[in-house]
Amino acid sequence: MSIKVVVAGQGAFGIKHIEALKNIKDVEIVSLAGGSLDSTRDVAQKFGIPHFTTDLAESLAQPGVQAAILATPTQMHAKQGIQCMRAGKHVHIEIPIADNLKDAEELVKVLLRTGEEEGVIFLPGTKLAGADRHPEGIALRTERETILASTVVNAAGLYADDVSKILGGETFTIYPCRGEYAEFTPAKRALVNALVYPLPHASGHGLGVHLVRTTGGQVWLGPTIHYQERKDDYENDREPLEHFAESARLLIDGVTIDDLRLSGSGIRAKLHPPSESFADFMIRRDRENPAVVQVSGIDSPGLTSSLAIGKLVSEIVAEDS
Ligand SMILES: Cc1cc2nc3c(=O)[nH]c(=O)nc-3n(C[C@H](O)[C@H](O)[C@H](O)COP(=O)(O)OP(=O)(O)OC[C@H]3O[C@@H](n4cnc5c(N)ncnc54)[C@H](O)[C@@H]3O)c2cc1C
Repeated sequence: MSIKVVVAGQGAFGIKHIEALKNIKDVEIVSLAGGSLDSTRDVAQKFGIPHFTTDLAESLAQPGVQAAILATPTQMHAKQGIQCMRAGKHVHIEIPIADNLKDAEELVKVLLRTGEEEGVIFLPGTKLAGADRHPEGIALRTERETILASTVVNAAGLYADDVSKILGGETFTIYPCRGEYAEFTPAKRALVNALVYPLPHASGHGLGVHLVRTTGGQVWLGPTIHYQERKDDYENDREPLEHFAESARLLIDGVTIDDLRLSGSGIRAKLHPPSESFADFMIRRDRENPAVVQVSGIDSPGLTSSLAIGKLVSEIVAEDS
């Protein structure tokens, strides 16, 4: 059975999603919601999408629609994301989810409420403090309560090794690996119109510092690769701008530090040390404690793969329960 999807946005990013979705066997694009009728019709006809409109509500109301992909202008993301969730659909939003904090918070609140309506209990800011084996699974201890679970999915990112230990699962190490970004100054953004990649990093640790034009119009340069000891240090010893300028010059002539400014950073959860080049995601039932399903070492492209990972995890949980 195929998943019926709506794509919102008939521009370059919408088309990228449509092209990618066309390569997935079990996905059917049933409607395209665009900003202008003429160009939306053109794109729908080009890709054989049976329905098109400028009204997202009409797209979402098509029979059997389960999910929407929003590749619309940033300022529309939060409102449309909320609209999709309220219509009972899964939604994938091109980053960023909003262009202001208030809208982002509202979107997350609606996500919380729609999840609760489906029976999910959220415990934000609640750290797993301990766990005990139990005849029916695992008793999880937080500061305030004990929760009995037949299966526990360990998706604790950078702390998955610590959480596995708490759960009586397998022993492994998560190696924190920082990735930093710089961005082009507004005056230089017009230099880049698309993703620009170098050859992949020789170490095998990443794709190499590449150029990304976001839907918000910024141009990011990154991420770098730097293994470090701490899992919570995003700012000390930042790479100098000259390092980014050197990487940028491999892709565009003449870039100088005056064209760039430092941007954000993140820390990858790697399952292999710097001396090794690759370790696959660990997505399987734990070999020490079968009540645990490991979703650990989810390095890049974990976000891109999140729907497939979710599907696999639900299959693993269903198989043995
Ligand atoms: C610089 C950088 C660039 C990237 N680029 C891309 C990209 O282009 N494309 C892509 O697909 N992916 C990319 N990724 C990878 C992507 O971000 C990850 O794969 C993804 O975020 C992993 O999701 P996760 O849910 O496994 O972990 P996380 O998002 O880290 O979630 C782990 C959660 O567990 C919680 N937690 C930890 N310990 C405990 C505890 N004891 N008790 C309770 N909760 C706990 C944490 O608070 C957190 O909420 C990038 C990552 C980085 C750092």
